[in-house]
Amino acid sequence: MKMFKDHCRQALDSIRGQGRYRVFTPLQKRAEGFPYYLRPDGSRVLVWSANDYLAMGGHPVVIEAACEAARTMGAGAGVTRNISGTSPLHDALEAELADLHGKDAGLIFTSGFVSNQAALSTILNSFPNGPDQPWHVFSDAKNHASMIVGINKHHPEKHIFAHNDLDDLERKLAAADPDAPKLIACESVYSMDGTVAPLRAIGELAEKYGALTYLDEVHAVGLYGPSGAGVAERDGVLGMFDIVEGTFGKAFGLAGGYIAGSQLLVDNIRSHAPGFIFTTSMPPVVAAGALASLGVLKTAHDLRARQQRQARYLRDELSAAGLPVIQTESHIVPLLIGGAHCCKGVADWLFENASIYVQPINYPTVAVGEERLRLTPSPLHTDAMIDELVGALDYLWQQQHLPRQKVA
Ligand SMILES: *Cc1c(COP(=O)(O)O)cnc(C)c1O
Repeated sequence: MKMFKDHCRQALDSIRGQGRYRVFTPLQKRAEGFPYYLRPDGSRVLVWSANDYLAMGGHPVVIEAACEAARTMGAGAGVTRNISGTSPLHDALEAELADLHGKDAGLIFTSGFVSNQAALSTILNSFPNGPDQPWHVFSDAKNHASMIVGINKHHPEKHIFAHNDLDDLERKLAAADPDAPKLIACESVYSMDGTVAPLRAIGELAEKYGALTYLDEVHAVGLYGPSGAGVAERDGVLGMFDIVEGTFGKAFGLAGGYIAGSQLLVDNIRSHAPGFIFTTSMPPVVAAGALASLGVLKTAHDLRARQQRQARYLRDELSAAGLPVIQTESHIVPLLIGGAHCCKGVADWLFENASIYVQPINYPTVAVGEERLRLTPSPLHTDAMIDELVGALDYLWQQQHLPRQKVA
């Protein structure tokens, strides 16, 4: 036991030494006034690092639906789905999700993390061609930790292809045993880089090589496509992806995750995944809020357009000031700093001197040397707020003689 305690101490000291020890800042999110949060002393902070992308967490329709559910159904579901924890709300939400993504069936999980981990590990725990032929999984180099955990669980033959690199993906697909069961796993919008996957081309490769396709649309649901189903809907390629995964935690403004797919695939996961079976079902409060949020987002064209407009304005302003913004085609605006200490230093300075909260993103979320501030403007981040942020950064860059640079 003493050895283990020493080990923990050393491990934590090491993280501190690298400037990436995680300190949580207590900030109160408010039903009104987003994107301003409150410090414990009651003072306001302008937050640039929330994934409540469209401020749906504070939408009156969502709040009312959640409150009404709490008043009529109580706070919690009480037990797992299989026992007495399936409310008609859960069924309605799953039907809506299937419809949103053009699939037969939907399945709700307690988080997006669990949905990826449970769905992928359940698929890969099967041996469609017999025990001698494990799955070959083709996984984008920037895939989220939740997918990686699910993929690694049962040790398939794993091929990591370079981020969004179709040539590398095809090379790896072509080199694999043609008879082996294959799965391609990718995201649509990548959370730390803001890059968008070439979904149609990936779908075509999957068809050519007979691979199952698994798509994480966590940073795209609610935000892209005519009804907010994500990039696959926008690009007209929903049919090319066997399983689509999403979250209620980001653009929906609540919490929880889900998959959508064919009746057969979803039923198989529903019937086998421990992460689905052995856990208390989503509280009715959350399910009701998610259903309401989904309803609003289906036609939230103005919110989506305004979010894209604010992201563009922020990118343009940062770029005009010579600040190292990574130009992306999505709503995610990364400011590349490089160096954990410097990244945290910038964030601390903004918080203390400008009452602006920006989250430094360090290893292992991004590679060492690629530390960044990840900015996610919502429709409620006004031009004046953007000017305020860019002004503060510009002042700091001048004071500290930080490099002005163009990032490709
Ligand atoms: C946040 C995230 C998840 C997990 O979703 P939660 O609902 O927050 O658990 C999954 N995939 C990606 C790409 C994410 O960024």
